[in-house]
Amino acid sequence: MKEVNVNGTLVWYYYICKRQAWLMARNINPNQDNPLLDLGRFIQEHTYERDKRKEVVVGNIIIDVIKKGKKEIVVGEVKKSSKFKESAKMQLAFYLWEFKKIGIDSTGVLMFPKEKERVEVVLDDELEKKVEKTAKEILRIIYKEKPQPAEKIGYCKNCAYSEFCWA
Ligand code: SF4
Repeated sequence: MKEVNVNGTLVWYYYICKRQAWLMARNINPNQDNPLLDLGRFIQEHTYERDKRKEVVVGNIIIDVIKKGKKEIVVGEVKKSSKFKESAKMQLAFYLWEFKKIGIDSTGVLMFPKEKERVEVVLDDELEKKVEKTAKEILRIIYKEKPQPAEKIGYCKNCAYSEFCWA
C-alpha cells in the first residue's frame, strides 16, 4: 500500500464509518453501477455546490470560505445539513490543526444556512488533542490489512459501498 496522508475527507468519513475511511484510503471504488455513487456525489449532497462557495486551496486542503478575522484567519465550512455535525466539526478542526502546524492561527465556523445555524469551532487544547488522536487512529486503521467489520448504521442505505458491505 502506498503512503497515505490523513486529510479532511478521511476525518469526515472516520466519524461516519471507519470501514468507509479504510475503503477510501485504499482507493477501493464502490460499484460504479450504484446510482448512489461515490464521494463526489456524497459531497455534493452534503455541501454547497462549489460555484456558490468561495474556495481556497492550501497545500492539499480545500477550504470553503476563508476570511480575515480581527486577529486571525477564520475558516468557514458550509454544509447543507447538520446531520453529520460531529464529522463536520472534526473535519474543520483538522484544517485548523493543519494551519497551526504551519504557524497560522485560525478559528473556524461551521455554517448550516438552511437551518440558519452557525457553530464556532475553536482549536483549544482539548480539541487539538482530539484531532491529533483522530489522525493517529485513522492511520492505525487504514494501515490494517483488513477493514473494520461492517456495522449497520443509518448512513449505510445512502452509502455507495452498501452493496460491497451487505450484498
Ligand atoms: S455500507 Fe455502511 S458499513 Fe459499509 S462502508 Fe458504507 S456506511 Fe460503512
